[in-house]
Amino acid sequence: MKLSEKQQIFTFNVSMLICKAYEMGLTLTFGEAYRTREQQLLYVQSGKSQTMNSNHLRRLAVDFNVFKEGNLTYKWEDIKPLGDYWEGLHPTNRWGGDWNKNDIKDGFIDTPHFEMNA
Ligand SMILES: [Zn+2]
Repeated sequence: MKLSEKQQIFTFNVSMLICKAYEMGLTLTFGEAYRTREQQLLYVQSGKSQTMNSNHLRRLAVDFNVFKEGNLTYKWEDIKPLGDYWEGLHPTNRWGGDWNKNDIKDGFIDTPHFEMNA
């Protein structure tokens, strides 16, 4: 499948994710989606990211600011239901709160991050 076709599936699935969040009583604002190599390098150098192979570089990842009852949250427990929904939308979808999909909070946690790892 061409990258552009993956990006189109990803973008449609993001629209479903947004609707689901509001259904769940969560509200969202956008963080980053597409990221340049230059920006990614700054994140790796500052420790904010651990890889130059981020799906943000391929337009296959998005970060959301998640609000619960009007308050910004990064809490794993608050965002996990949305992560579960995301992973159900496509077999290659991953949530940054559970990279290895083992349903527990372990390793590097990036709860605002939703990606298609295709
Ligand atoms: Zn991200």
